[in-house]
Amino acid sequence: MPGWCVSKPRFTMDEIRRLGEVIERADAILMGAGAGLSASAGFDYTGVRFQKYFSDFAEKYGFRDMYSGGFYPYETLEEHWAYWSRYIYINRYRNAPKPVYEKLYELVKEKDYFVLTTNVDHCFQKAGFDKSRLFYTQGDYGLFQCSVPCHQETYDNETVIRKMVEAQGYEIAENGELYLPEGRRPERKVPSEWIPYCPRCGKPMSMNLRADDTFVEDTGWRKAAGRYADFRRRHQGRILLLEIAVGYNTPGVIKYPFWQMTYENPMAVYACVNLGEAAAPGEIADRSICIDGDIGETLKFL
Ligand SMILES: [Zn+2]
Repeated sequence: MPGWCVSKPRFTMDEIRRLGEVIERADAILMGAGAGLSASAGFDYTGVRFQKYFSDFAEKYGFRDMYSGGFYPYETLEEHWAYWSRYIYINRYRNAPKPVYEKLYELVKEKDYFVLTTNVDHCFQKAGFDKSRLFYTQGDYGLFQCSVPCHQETYDNETVIRKMVEAQGYEIAENGELYLPEGRRPERKVPSEWIPYCPRCGKPMSMNLRADDTFVEDTGWRKAAGRYADFRRRHQGRILLLEIAVGYNTPGVIKYPFWQMTYENPMAVYACVNLGEAAAPGEIADRSICIDGDIGETLKFL
């Protein structure tokens, strides 16, 4: 799309009211969501939450947030999985602290909607979104794959992840909360027998997350991609493209296609809710709603 100009982002009741009206009128809603949505729901990867579960790793390696520890090349797989099992347990198998996803679901559940997301934490499904209306393009914390990969399949990891965190000294409360018994320090390693290996080639398993070209697109992924393409084909008319908290890390997945679709369909409306980065190109500015705000806050007024 040639020419770049930014529409004026605002966090005003007028803009929010406009968004409410467009949602009301839209025949269909295509939602695109990024990491900021989970952050708004309380899934913080820094600060108190990071310190609570990773202070031993922070002490040894100087990490300040969960992402850095995830990419660190640990000397042993025992330590690698100690880190990753805590990370996966708290971000995939626990519910987000605030009901932001649930409120979003209330807003769209009666509509013909589809969700495209780079988030890998399963929050949409946990909030009630229909699995057949979701496309997780970048993977899922709940799945392992062969690290090679020698085959295009993924494996549920919940059971082994639970065993790994418990083997480090953690206990899992009835409500799912992970805690350490009084005075106990966690082990920074898991027993070797819990390290996952590929059932076909015997190489170590890895997370099913798109970090490089080893990412496995399994049957579920390909079906979801097909349903997404189908949704786009079916809705060429009054559609709302609702982009939520999508940054500029991977704009080619959601942001740029949303702009392009709005540009090509004169009946489409583009809405962008993003704290600090709400913008739309000049070509579609007259059909854009830009709300410079947190999605959790915005939803309170919708
Ligand atoms: Zn393999």
